[in-house]
Amino acid sequence: MRISLLIIVALAVVFLGGDLHLQAAVAPSETIRVAIVKNAGTVVVDGDGLLATRETGEAVALVPPVSITGGRDQLIVNGTAFRQLTFAASSAVKINGKPYRGMVEILPGEKGLLAVNQLPLEDYLVGLINCEISSAWPIEAVKAQAVIARTYALNRKAARKNAVYHLESSVMDQVYDGCLIEDSRARRAVEETAGEVLTYNKSIIQAFYHSSCGGKTEAAENVWGASVPYLKGVECEYCLTNPSTSWEQKLTLKDIDEKLRAAGYKVTGVTDLRPGPRNERGRLRNIRAVSGQGEVAISGDQFRKAIGYGIIKSTNFVVKVANGEAVFSGYGNGHGVGLCQWGAKQRALDGFGYAEILTYYYPGTQLKRFFEIS
Ligand SMILES: [Zn+2]
Repeated sequence: MRISLLIIVALAVVFLGGDLHLQAAVAPSETIRVAIVKNAGTVVVDGDGLLATRETGEAVALVPPVSITGGRDQLIVNGTAFRQLTFAASSAVKINGKPYRGMVEILPGEKGLLAVNQLPLEDYLVGLINCEISSAWPIEAVKAQAVIARTYALNRKAARKNAVYHLESSVMDQVYDGCLIEDSRARRAVEETAGEVLTYNKSIIQAFYHSSCGGKTEAAENVWGASVPYLKGVECEYCLTNPSTSWEQKLTLKDIDEKLRAAGYKVTGVTDLRPGPRNERGRLRNIRAVSGQGEVAISGDQFRKAIGYGIIKSTNFVVKVANGEAVFSGYGNGHGVGLCQWGAKQRALDGFGYAEILTYYYPGTQLKRFFEIS
């Protein structure tokens, strides 16, 4: 009995060892650097077995929790100055109470402290999935999210290879909040797509994505001005099954006036908003704000930016102005370019695999292993 158990354990070790080796072959040991805190006055670092090193690589004896404040070019801990501190821990490094895998560097930034999390790319993806979607979604949709997040991250890493960090942890890039919300389904989706990226002409694509498109995904040139062959826009009725794809927002004209002026537009007392022409994908090219100074035309994306991306959720809306108020009714959430997350969920429920979902939203692209192209 004991012998057979030993054999099983030995076989398991051999098998798992082989499996790990295979894993290493398909999932390159890429790391990624993500800005997790920016412009902070104070950062508190904690964690079991916390190990701190200074800019020279020397270990520094600091008793956790470590409270760091910053000057222009330096960090201060208990009255001692450092140029940079790097933290590792036996499990996770806690930054302001949130756990992160890998290492965290604290650096002085222009407007306050900067914290950069450096960790294996595949671990970053597991943490990211529940920030972007829910790992409880059909597994093929979760796998599609894993591939586009990996693709997006590697594209940004190549573009910003000399920068202090590769990615923001907000909607500016990809939402990432550490490892607290990792789970086994997110890890399964990352492992079952290990190392896979989307390519076009053997290059890693710019895998933009968004929450829901509202019926048609958008062409990249309509948002950012540059035409991209695999980001021309596709039909997507799939996300319309999600009730939150349609939205309504009520704002006072006074509020809109203040936000437009704060964004630098020359308006004085906005009295009306007039939607301009729509592009071929159904979204507003511009919106005209009428005030005492005449009309100012603002591009759809710039209007969203000025009022707030979370308030005006898309540029596919109508607006009614009455009694000093503007009521916006729209479809979709996000810029609309690339993969529609809610559409991908519905396509997975309809029985499509993640590879089919990806090539639908990024036409002409190919799924490849990262090591095949790097
Ligand atoms: Zn959609």
